[in-house]
Amino acid sequence: MSLTRDIKDFALDLGYCGVGITTADPFPLVAEELTKRREAYRWIIDGRLKMIDGATPKNIMPGAKSIISTVYDYAREGFPPELVGRLGRLYQSRSYLAPRTRINGARRQLFKDFLESKGLKVMHGFDLNVAERMAAARGGAVTFGRNNFAYTKETGSFIVMMAFTVDAELEYDAPTVEAPCPENCRLCIDACPTGALEPFKLNPRRCIAFNCFMTQDGYGPSLSDHIPPDIRAQMGSWIHGCDLCQEACPRNQRRLKAKPPVNEFLALTAARFDLRKVLLLTDEYYESVLKPVAYNYLRHKKYFQRNAAIALGNSGDPSHVPFLAQALGEPEPLVRGYAAWALGRLGGAGARAAIETALAVETDEKARDEMRSALAA
Ligand code: SF4
Ligand code: SF4
Repeated sequence: MSLTRDIKDFALDLGYCGVGITTADPFPLVAEELTKRREAYRWIIDGRLKMIDGATPKNIMPGAKSIISTVYDYAREGFPPELVGRLGRLYQSRSYLAPRTRINGARRQLFKDFLESKGLKVMHGFDLNVAERMAAARGGAVTFGRNNFAYTKETGSFIVMMAFTVDAELEYDAPTVEAPCPENCRLCIDACPTGALEPFKLNPRRCIAFNCFMTQDGYGPSLSDHIPPDIRAQMGSWIHGCDLCQEACPRNQRRLKAKPPVNEFLALTAARFDLRKVLLLTDEYYESVLKPVAYNYLRHKKYFQRNAAIALGNSGDPSHVPFLAQALGEPEPLVRGYAAWALGRLGGAGARAAIETALAVETDEKARDEMRSALAA
């Protein structure tokens, strides 16, 4: 058996739904597009991800010859309705950036160990961060949609890819860098509540997913914990990710309608999930309910609390007012400020009185600004 066949068989045996192989040649389009849009994407260019550097793999790994892309179908099990619309399916599936101690991280490690057992030098992840969707498309494993997601015919866009760059020449697959979307379809673009999408182009700063988790102080160049008020109002009930432009897509409907049995671990999480508990987050709830499914990005529980405040404010449900009023006494000024925003959005005499009382004793300038704006709304 050839080394290429051996590698592909092992990947499929591990549970990946696809694997494609391309050369380690540069990705000039990725570098060009990122360079043009440096301001919007500074955190992935100048921060830890170094995406422009990854567009020329041989600069980082001089002996690089091939990129092996694995594709994992993360919607093979079902998602509980209580979590859909709040946590993106990708994050619920715990398949993205999973640590080695969890099943999806262990799978990635097993694949890397296998490649090394064949005598290959391997780089992946933060060590050599190639554009994974583009590598998988050039390796024939996926196509694109106008919403910028990668697709396979069988799974739609509910996939996660991982690129392993190796120092051996392998047999290469025919590229599928194409978008077999129906002509004139723009359902994904129309479904985006914040206007973040245009065909094959995302404005990350307007994307709900970006605003859920990249908005953290000190997380990377040009990032802060601020979410613009017009975006907050469009975030609906999402607190970690957003699936709307995938849910709207005709190429995903077969998968969305299939409704396989709900993953048991997620069912347990769903039974304990309560946005009001996320708002008034205890260490115990954070560690036992949120972190196991949303470990990827948010580094402090105050960001979950901020996002929950926004979701509760967007709910239109006045029964949340007492909980948001209680959050005005939380230790983190960020949480107090966004609780005030949410109370202002829900409106009503009780909400207003709570903000006025909090403003009288608030010392943090940003929280005070939020409270004043909420009262003026
Ligand atoms: S993930 Fe949500 S906010 Fe981002 S582009 Fe898609 S629909 Fe718009
Ligand atoms: S909604 Fe339409 S245009 Fe958008 S990715 Fe799906 S098929 Fe393509």
